[in-house]
Amino acid sequence: MVPQDTFALIGGSGALELLREYQHNCKRLGPAPTPFGLSAVLYRVRIQDAHFVFLPRHGEFGHELAAPWVNYRANIYALREQGVFRVFAWSGSAAINLSLSVGQYVLPHDLIDDTRGRETSFFKGTRLGAIRQHPVFCGEMRAATESVLRMAQMPHQDHGTYVCAQGPRLETPAEVRRARSWGGDLAGMTLAPEAFLARELEMCYLPLCYVARHAEGIKEREKRPGELLGEVLEEAETEAAEEARARFFGLAAAVSRALPDERGCQCGAIMDQYREEGRLEEDWHTWLGKP
Ligand SMILES: [Zn+2]
Repeated sequence: MVPQDTFALIGGSGALELLREYQHNCKRLGPAPTPFGLSAVLYRVRIQDAHFVFLPRHGEFGHELAAPWVNYRANIYALREQGVFRVFAWSGSAAINLSLSVGQYVLPHDLIDDTRGRETSFFKGTRLGAIRQHPVFCGEMRAATESVLRMAQMPHQDHGTYVCAQGPRLETPAEVRRARSWGGDLAGMTLAPEAFLARELEMCYLPLCYVARHAEGIKEREKRPGELLGEVLEEAETEAAEEARARFFGLAAAVSRALPDERGCQCGAIMDQYREEGRLEEDWHTWLGKP
């Protein structure tokens, strides 16, 4: 079990319905001012003995802020300031890999950043930032999450490459073919630069994706003009996607319980190369560049 409020869940679309369900166990802390601007709203959530911080990245209603305009730096900074050092991130994604079905969970093991123009580092104007990205995500959180999913017998794939597109528009069929040729299994818009920023502040980060739809051109389907996601899901698929999303708070609580109190991974030592060179002060605030 992790210490109180050192674990955070970053939520994707559809946070509002989940917040409603957990409102009696939820304290709204509000947005946090940071040198990089205001963060998204933070909540403190309690589920039985698990206490964690919740940050809905697209806004409290789920859709106020599309992926390109999320203030990723402010969000990660605010979580770190709150005392969080483990981040569990949920992302609704589009399946590129045909073997994935809607509603299925995927634990990505790799990430391609195909975004443009986003602020991808805290270290602008400094000489810091050459940080390893292999493995991209925290191994300790991955092992804990896999064991939780296995014990709960939830269908999941324990690997996958996530291709992060700029958005907000959906991908073109040719972009999906290109992502597939790169080895992509999932397309989404949110994990980059979120994962990279968390690593810069020596936080553990693990995404858990659920398949919300198929990427364009992957599966020929009836299209209804004006349909939000451009695809008509079968009823069973819509239900499966909703069910997968509805479990995120419970999963976050279970993962936080399954993790050891002290970190046994390397995420907290990622800046050691700079420490050894005597280029880092102890206080992480002093590492950051100008906004
Ligand atoms: Zn870690």
